[in-house]
Amino acid sequence: MDREPIIHIENVHKWFGHVHALRGINLDVYKGEVVVIIGPSGSGKSTLLRCINRLEEFDEGKIIVDGIPLDSAENINAVRTEVGMVFQQFNLFPHLTVLENICLAQRIVRKRKKEEAEAIAMELLRKVGIPEKAHNYPAQLSGGQQQRVAIARALAMNPKIMLFDEPTSALDPEMIQEVLDVMLNLAREGMTMVVVSHEIGFARAAAHRAILMDEGQIVEEAPPDILFNNPRHERTRAFLSKVL
Ligand code: ADP
Ligand code: MG
Repeated sequence: MDREPIIHIENVHKWFGHVHALRGINLDVYKGEVVVIIGPSGSGKSTLLRCINRLEEFDEGKIIVDGIPLDSAENINAVRTEVGMVFQQFNLFPHLTVLENICLAQRIVRKRKKEEAEAIAMELLRKVGIPEKAHNYPAQLSGGQQQRVAIARALAMNPKIMLFDEPTSALDPEMIQEVLDVMLNLAREGMTMVVVSHEIGFARAAAHRAILMDEGQIVEEAPPDILFNNPRHERTRAFLSKVL
């Protein structure tokens, strides 16, 4: 791994009115690293992810992504094209086919020609295991298949970093593993990933580091085996006793 972090987060604070959602977050993520964030509901996990690509503004502190500080409109746009994000709700356009969903941003943002965008989309649909769904509409797919389309759509932009916010939380249990398998493959290919998920098996298999957030702070971070088997902090133990 490079010594220069690809994501540098320094003393970041975020308020929603009187809610102090992020309370001085410091985090460096290195190229090729997979970081899994766990923690109770409302602890600031989504807010932190959303600050990394500035879907959310932060009030204090500094974030630098791939050498670009998030401090001007131009820089924020540049960073957004490097960071792919996958949400709990897949957010596909219902009136577009799977292929069209994966091509849209490629055409607009990357200015790719139709044929090129479609070739890339088909390659990615093969990668996530559903090339036969190219001409279906999202409503014709299972939740797990829709989430795999959302991953393919993000990958089509050639991101350097992928952020996942509870990507399997909205899925029926039998579809969770197929999405985790796609993510695991991506991790093994060396994608830099920050994943909010309570899928501990995935974290053990894929993560270099696991982080416990609580009340807007990073309470503990360690390799997953240590964090899950032998946590140092009482708050980590208390949380794990609920999810393990
Ligand atoms: P998590 O993802 O860990 O469940 P969030 O980052 O969504 O936590 O939320 C952290 C805190 O910020 C919570 O108290 C939540 O209610 C608050 N919050 C999040 N988004 C907003 C918003 N858009 N407006 C007001 N409060 C928000
Ligand atoms: Mg959340």
